[in-house]
Amino acid sequence: MSDVGCPVVAKAGGSYILWSGMARLIVFDLDLTLWHCGPMLWCDQLTPPLGRDGGGRVVAACRTEVQLYPEVPELLAELVEEGCLLGLASRTSAPEIASELLELFAIAGHFRHRQIYPGDKSAHFRALREESGIDYAEMIFFDDEPRNVDSVARLGVAAHLVRGGMTRALLEQARRGA
Ligand SMILES: [Mg+2]
Repeated sequence: MSDVGCPVVAKAGGSYILWSGMARLIVFDLDLTLWHCGPMLWCDQLTPPLGRDGGGRVVAACRTEVQLYPEVPELLAELVEEGCLLGLASRTSAPEIASELLELFAIAGHFRHRQIYPGDKSAHFRALREESGIDYAEMIFFDDEPRNVDSVARLGVAAHLVRGGMTRALLEQARRGA
């Protein structure tokens, strides 16, 4: 069992508030939660090769740009800095593309636990619990698809629907148990 936890305070608008919950693992979906793939819905629709163009943008073939949502890089870095344990649960059918994007965005190292493969996300969370030794009640999950939120919430995880990409406001709301 990991001894890495999160502090009991969260920063909100420059002031610190008491956070009643004690999430020990914060898990994110990828497509339309941490990043978006321009005209494509999901990263498994991208055509390799992927890379950075001359302007530093992450692009696939035909110059399709993939972008992290604006608050995501700093938000993840701050969570890691706080000592939070982070995980990924994605049902993409192109896990190799997802892994490459994580490397290109230089965020791969933030996530200690990764479950990236197709299927109902309850399977991903069973594997996350097994791998981390952390109970569902001590996890928070963020995903843009109601079917995933519903499936994972049934396990007892505090699962939150993301609209328009992951934001600091949603994270803080979830960590307050709201
Ligand atoms: Mg998604």
